[in-house]
Amino acid sequence: MLVKAQIGMVMNLDKCIGCHTCSVTCKTTWTNRDGAEYMWFNDVETKPGVGYPKEWENQEKWRGGWELRDGRLRLKAGGKLRKLASIFYNPDLPAIEDYYEPWTYDYDTLTSSRPSRHQPVARPHSTLSGDPLDLEWGPNWEDDLAGAPETAPRDPNITEDLQERIRMEYEKVFMMYLPRICEHCLNPSCVASCPSGAMYKRDEDGIVLVDQEQCRGWRYCVSGCPYKKVYFNHNTGKAEKCTLCYPRIENGEPTICSETCVGRIRYIGLLLYDADRVEEVASTPDEKDLLEAQRSIFLDPNDPEVAEQARFDGVPDDWIEAARRSPLYRLVIDWGVALPLHPEYRTLPMVWYIPPLSPVMGLVEDGEPDPDKVFPAIDEMRIPARYLANMLTAGDEEEIRRVLRRLAAMRAYMRELDVAGEEDPELA
Ligand code: SF4
Ligand code: SF4
Repeated sequence: MLVKAQIGMVMNLDKCIGCHTCSVTCKTTWTNRDGAEYMWFNDVETKPGVGYPKEWENQEKWRGGWELRDGRLRLKAGGKLRKLASIFYNPDLPAIEDYYEPWTYDYDTLTSSRPSRHQPVARPHSTLSGDPLDLEWGPNWEDDLAGAPETAPRDPNITEDLQERIRMEYEKVFMMYLPRICEHCLNPSCVASCPSGAMYKRDEDGIVLVDQEQCRGWRYCVSGCPYKKVYFNHNTGKAEKCTLCYPRIENGEPTICSETCVGRIRYIGLLLYDADRVEEVASTPDEKDLLEAQRSIFLDPNDPEVAEQARFDGVPDDWIEAARRSPLYRLVIDWGVALPLHPEYRTLPMVWYIPPLSPVMGLVEDGEPDPDKVFPAIDEMRIPARYLANMLTAGDEEEIRRVLRRLAAMRAYMRELDVAGEEDPELA
């Protein structure tokens, strides 16, 4: 066993209001300069929807991440011709129209134009690709469509049966927000794909960074990242990505996205894990076992044997203490309510998500939770369990239902206490 510390994040999707404050504060801190206009280290996606960059979850299109070949974990790659071609250029990159075309507002015109009786009629669009669907797309365009059949086919989490359901039962369209940053993976395929050794994972806290001196602009990190969270700065010719605000972290401050989050959805903290098991866990043969395998890599910081081994492996005492105080182990392991985004990508992501529950809680009337109503309703909830399973549990619907039931029970219990004017003795 080799114990290492890793900074991670849990986001409670039930609390995200889609205000984009996190994206804006991140942008003004990190990507407010030439060549970085189109970059959003933090973005908030409207789901169902194609995301940012467009169709990032379509792994067939980009070939990002890992696959098991001949029993071994290897970076996804194409055929021989593609490999040969990739010596000269990298064919699996998103183009600028897959992000969006940044523009600068002409404030003069905005403030001095004459009043008009008519609404603007121009559609937001990107015509570069020639794809007619692009005529009606921009980041968060789905806010206006909310899972309607027009966008659903382009979200790979919408499987055919869900598409049918949306078409047949229009009143059941649904919408949720998915804030995303780099996952600072335990098994980062961006690092594995970099031919220059410029991408690296910090030993002490697991933050994944790009050495700007070493980067030669190959952009294999961009195609190799299944979450499409590395960007290329055409001005500097270097790759850039979320730094998890490491200068703030080193000063004992949270990331800017966490600090400014209006919904208070972000929990940031330290986890201890067994670094000797990364390859074994990522190579778990059966996809349905992946989630459990990924959970099993984390170590209980309150276990004296783990703490002793951590000290032996060079984890400082105050970090072990920080891991004990962190809410992450509780949310991910003890309570088991946080789930990784697309565990099937096998990079072992370190941003985990508590799935959204709110539509079910509509069945709790007047503060009187009725478990007979709430629990069966999870099967009929507005955001289909199948959709969340495709996103968070590699398709395991039962696991999503288990998590949602637990969240519903917890919320019902808290509401009951609230109505009675009491406090939970453990939380008091
Ligand atoms: Fe690398 Fe992508 Fe994982 Fe971030 S999300 S560590 S860029 S593979
Ligand atoms: Fe969601 Fe928080 Fe970002 Fe607002 S600031 S969009 S609530 S994650």
